[in-house]
Amino acid sequence: MTPRTIFESDHEIFRAAVRKFFRAEVTPHVDRWRHQGVVDREIFRKAGDHGYLLMWAPEAYGGLGVDDMRYEQIVQEENFRHGDPGLCLTLHSRVVAPYIGQHGTDEQKQRWLPAAVRGEKILAVAMSEPAAGSDLAGMQARAEEHDDHWVLSGSKTYISNGLLADLVVVAARTGRGADRAIGLFVVEEGMAGFRRGRKLDKLGLDAQDTAEMFFDGVVVPKHNVLGDPTHGFRYLTHALAVERLQIAIGAIAHAQVAFDVTLEFVKQRTAFGRPIGTFQDPRFRMARMRAELDAMQSHIDHCVMLANAGALSAEVASGAKMLATELEGRVIDDCLQLHGGAGYMEEYRISRMYRDARVTRIFGGTSEIMAEIIGRRLGLDERRLTR
Ligand SMILES: Cc1cc2nc3c(=O)[nH]c(=O)nc-3n(C[C@H](O)[C@H](O)[C@H](O)COP(=O)(O)OP(=O)(O)OC[C@H]3O[C@@H](n4cnc5c(N)ncnc54)[C@H](O)[C@@H]3O)c2cc1C
Repeated sequence: MTPRTIFESDHEIFRAAVRKFFRAEVTPHVDRWRHQGVVDREIFRKAGDHGYLLMWAPEAYGGLGVDDMRYEQIVQEENFRHGDPGLCLTLHSRVVAPYIGQHGTDEQKQRWLPAAVRGEKILAVAMSEPAAGSDLAGMQARAEEHDDHWVLSGSKTYISNGLLADLVVVAARTGRGADRAIGLFVVEEGMAGFRRGRKLDKLGLDAQDTAEMFFDGVVVPKHNVLGDPTHGFRYLTHALAVERLQIAIGAIAHAQVAFDVTLEFVKQRTAFGRPIGTFQDPRFRMARMRAELDAMQSHIDHCVMLANAGALSAEVASGAKMLATELEGRVIDDCLQLHGGAGYMEEYRISRMYRDARVTRIFGGTSEIMAEIIGRRLGLDERRLTR
């Protein structure tokens, strides 16, 4: 593997500690979590005890005040190597919590961030609906304004951390008619009218509690609205760039693990009297994968540094997600093929990696929508070209 250049000695010390944590607190539970369809909520509290959640949060809100995405990248990479992709720590820390950190008032941050840092309150974000995923502007969930509160109605689906979440950032329309204004509302466990549906059975990510949510006239106090209730779309667009980079970080980490698992396999497994990795086809496939993974890793590391510098654009994040998840898919498919029949057996890690990997080209915005975002930025917007 090409040496990576973005990490300093503090990051390496941190990685060693995180790896130890995952091996002790996560690895032993993965099979059980996958079987029960949800991780133990206790793992969030343990990660919080070790200071691995919301590291960016200012000390005033219980965090470490370390706004360096390389630390979350390390947590993510160690989770993919020694944990399970169904454990959504970085979704909690780097995707959902920043909605509160960036758009919340001081009072809201005091109210919610310290408990999220400690892992006592688990976070989720609910944008997608049964009839609106890619087309977020078409969402039907609606919030009506009253004197000191809003009344939220509608339903959401495919929500990660959907059963465990104590706080859900819910996107809903606040405009009328053609006005597509959207607001972000923090719905808390126990609010009347807030109900979770079933945990959804999935192709992969067995340990992730993906669920439906229903909002039947939920009274949301005004002090639970994040920022301007008409600017939600802008807030989502900004946060989705970071979410897409997080998915890209996970995708390349997942593919790296698949490669390592497979390299070991092709060295051990023999056919026709020799290790299968020594035949030209497997050797060349492994060599090509090695080179492609190195190139992609360098680009993702570069994107992390762009994010640290506040220079990650929507189209660069979209490109990183599109390419990293597509490479993940190709690599894991090839790795499974190199396992032969064993690759199809649940007892071999590569088989569940194959199932888990399929979703990354879909969630957080599909590959096609990533291409749309990039294409529009190139001036190839259909509406402009046909005008
Ligand atoms: C496991 C899992 C976890 C998830 N977690 C969350 C979560 O925590 N919170 C949340 O809000 N959502 C979540 N999602 C939802 C996810 O973001 C959506 O599924 C995704 O954005 C796609 O939307 P859709 O399923 O409605 O597909 P659709 O929008 O119906 O798309 C169907 C197909 O049409 C294509 N398509 C649509 N529009 C276009 C276009 N303009 N041009 C070309 N092709 C197009 C798509 O690329 C896709 O191939 C999750 C989904 C999954 C599967």
